[in-house]
Amino acid sequence: MELPDAFVRRVVRDLGPEEGAALCAALDGVPPVSLRLHPAKCGDAEALLQRAEAAGQVPWCPDGHYLARRPQFTFDPAFHAGAYYVQEASSQFVGRLVGDVVGRRVLDLCAAPGGKTTLYASLVGPDGLVVANEIDRRRASVLADNVRKWGTGNVAVTACEPRALGDFEGWFDVVAVDAPCSGEGMFRKDIASRTEWSENNVRMCAARQEAILTEAWRALKPGGRLIYSTCTFNRDEDEGSLERLLSHVGEAVVEADVPEVETSWGIVCGRVGAFHTYRFYPHRTCGEGFFAAVACKAPDCGGRMRTPKGRRPLFASADKSTVAELERWVEEPASMRFARVADTLYGWVGAQADAVRALSEALPVICSGVAMGQVFKGRLKPDPALAFFMGLDRSALPVAEVGHDEAVDYLRRQELRADALAEGMNLVCREGRALGFAKRIGGRVNNLYPNSLRILKGEK
Ligand code: SAM
Repeated sequence: MELPDAFVRRVVRDLGPEEGAALCAALDGVPPVSLRLHPAKCGDAEALLQRAEAAGQVPWCPDGHYLARRPQFTFDPAFHAGAYYVQEASSQFVGRLVGDVVGRRVLDLCAAPGGKTTLYASLVGPDGLVVANEIDRRRASVLADNVRKWGTGNVAVTACEPRALGDFEGWFDVVAVDAPCSGEGMFRKDIASRTEWSENNVRMCAARQEAILTEAWRALKPGGRLIYSTCTFNRDEDEGSLERLLSHVGEAVVEADVPEVETSWGIVCGRVGAFHTYRFYPHRTCGEGFFAAVACKAPDCGGRMRTPKGRRPLFASADKSTVAELERWVEEPASMRFARVADTLYGWVGAQADAVRALSEALPVICSGVAMGQVFKGRLKPDPALAFFMGLDRSALPVAEVGHDEAVDYLRRQELRADALAEGMNLVCREGRALGFAKRIGGRVNNLYPNSLRILKGEK
């Protein structure tokens, strides 16, 4: 399928005939494949990268790696354990723009399927909080699956209009808008995106971006950072969106400290007012088309923090013996708080618990912290999410290490051999990476891997 004519005419006009032609030729080439390791979960990273045929590091992301070819991720237990996220290289650059975010609150306003959310979750650490919002319910549920699998326990997934988060005025140290866009940067990776493109759609996207950025700005605290990104090349949705924001709030936008960018990376750096901008062209960089920008809200620009009133109390406290049972399952019980939401018990790192409670009472929160499970007769029936949690205390139950084929059988929700497991609840692991729970009762094994996540078809 050809590139849209109007698109080709525009890039030739904007970049000049030679560079425009080079971009169009690159868009007809083969996209690079890359992943980002989960530093706390990847285990033997060398072995994992060797198996994945790693072919060099993504220069702007310490955990990012290119692969020589696209492997069958579906049959890699490490993928299902959340040891890495298959993420396009250019988008990994946002990790360099957040600054020092350890222990901070980040809002990822357009978050599904969660590539950038999981990156921010690793960067803020256990005491930080990422609020990952996705307007589309179906996509929000995929985002929640990816967040649970990442297992950092420091993410709250919401599914609302950006305005509902804008109402949490001045709440966030970083607000990231990875805006819905016309997707010109995807013309290589996703050929179908060429048919969906039109000049009218570019205009519609630009209008939507203006509305989203207005809400992002409200949610940002004075002194906080705004990160704006798209996967499109046109000026209207990139620099143009920043100019429209500046026309409303320009006097309150100041420069952010920005990282060094090496010339050899091929990134085109620019400025729009106080914003530093970064353009990734596939004929210049090893990655897909991408645009990113960063600036700060002036620390002295006034405005107050505002927390919308909760509609209903949602968290019920858990009794002492229940808490004692939950504490047995986590490595750092003293740093956690537990509560019941509906019929499930949850745990949050103490530093985030009040913020998560305020969000949950005002917004549709799909998941937050770590779902611990349900306690019956003093014993925890663990939620599948607890297996992925980095802070799980593995001395709470027997660990069943399985081979590759058994791991794939487990992920298909097939029955496991009883002699691979101890009696009772087990944590099923492959190469030390947790996949989920299974319960042995005599000669039978209940595979407790969630139906919604199971591998459906294909060869091992
Ligand atoms: N940040 C994601 C990642 O790294 O995996 C990709 C986000 S994608 C570029 C943009 C997202 O914005 C989509 O999931 C889309 O559903 C969502 N979206 C669409 N319309 C929106 C709107 N009006 N407000 C907020 N988000 C919207």
